[in-house]
Amino acid sequence: MKVYQALVAKDDVTAPLEAIEGIECMNIMEHDIHSFLDKTKEKMGGEIDLLLLNLSDSSLAQQDHILWQIRSSKLDIPAEIPIYCLNEGPLSNYLADGSLEPSAKLYAQLERFYERQAQLLKQQSNSPLDRFLAYAWPRENFQLTPRWQLQEYSSYQYPLLACLGVQEEQKVLAKWQQADILSEAGLIDRVRQCPRCDSEHLNYVDICPRCKSIDINSSVSLHCFTCGHVGEQGEFQLDTALRCPTCLTQLRHIGVDYDRPLERFHCASCDHRFIEGQVVASCHNGHRQRPDELKERRLYQYVLGPAAEQIASVGRIFDNRALQWGEDTSIENFSWLLRWSNASAQRHQHQHLLLFLNWEGVAEAITQWGEDRAMAQIAELQERLHSVIRQTDVFAQIDADKAVILLCHTSIKWLDQIAAKLASIEAANDDSILKLQVRNFPLPSQDLPENTQQWLLAHANKLELDHVI
Ligand SMILES: [Zn+2]
Ligand SMILES: [Zn+2]
Ligand SMILES: [Zn+2]
Repeated sequence: MKVYQALVAKDDVTAPLEAIEGIECMNIMEHDIHSFLDKTKEKMGGEIDLLLLNLSDSSLAQQDHILWQIRSSKLDIPAEIPIYCLNEGPLSNYLADGSLEPSAKLYAQLERFYERQAQLLKQQSNSPLDRFLAYAWPRENFQLTPRWQLQEYSSYQYPLLACLGVQEEQKVLAKWQQADILSEAGLIDRVRQCPRCDSEHLNYVDICPRCKSIDINSSVSLHCFTCGHVGEQGEFQLDTALRCPTCLTQLRHIGVDYDRPLERFHCASCDHRFIEGQVVASCHNGHRQRPDELKERRLYQYVLGPAAEQIASVGRIFDNRALQWGEDTSIENFSWLLRWSNASAQRHQHQHLLLFLNWEGVAEAITQWGEDRAMAQIAELQERLHSVIRQTDVFAQIDADKAVILLCHTSIKWLDQIAAKLASIEAANDDSILKLQVRNFPLPSQDLPENTQQWLLAHANKLELDHVI
């Protein structure tokens, strides 16, 4: 029987852990979070298979901090290490592996974890997807769950994705779901977003339908039948009786002398009286919309989908699903399509155009803005490329800063117009550090080798091609 080495963090001497068969514990008593993390780092030099957080209720904030630090790879220990907590804290459901119950179940879970981890193909790249699979795949009953939180711009966050450095959570989730890496396992919530800035911190307020002022009050008003005056109930009050302030008639019977108009609201800005205010939702950036103009975001819990296993064990997806109009395709699909179009163009004397796109100045942008901002900027520019290409053009991304487009039935004579369109993307980019370099390769060509994919990648990385725009 394999013995697993556990590092136990505890803050209370009086709460020793019961022995768990097959798990050898090494205790660290620490009150200070930083020295705990330092010691963890030291001890992790040895063989540590799991972490047990035996912290009391008063240290749950510290527990959350430890979980966050480890899952975000802020320590020299594997971010995916199994962690069990004695007490449930705000983040333990999202970042830990469960509660610490000395049981055979825990041992079995560990066995399964390390068995699956051994099957996992160790990826060379450190992409968010690889980091995510390294965490999720060894956990047999993995679930990705969103958490309601107030501090951030959006009202929900997937703490695990935040720790793994996944930017643009919503886009990434949509992409992984479409690629069958994740499957929906239940709707957690639906939230409304500002359609202009995606803010989810919205204030719903009713306003005057005439002048749009927020300065409105609900009021009880009366309507005098004798002279037709309408006013606040207070104006009519005379000791215990009611008297019209205009015609001085005493109002005795509702329905005979007076009634209450349906207009329950009064606008202090324009004096308008109305039955119902108009509701608007304002975000914290000051955008105002009608509730039916808001976007809806659906929050799901996810489990791993069929493609996760394929990537974890085979290493890449051969995307053989049907292409969606106007969407990116994988480089495998693109290569196949390129070869097929080239052969068909030779036979039918058609002309296609292959474009290599390359963002220049990336290194400079990273130095100036930092990697996160530079990458986000490139991603945004790539996104804008989609707005200028036709639905029938095929687009594949090779790298964060490189892409290829196949323009079907487009001859080289259109190149100037295409170049102008592409230049408009660059012009829209205010910080002129990033420059779009476009190279073209007209089809049909005799030079396209059998291994189209290799050829594509080689050409995408080569800077001098014969046909430079
Ligand atoms: Zn907004
Ligand atoms: Zn009156
Ligand atoms: Zn008004």
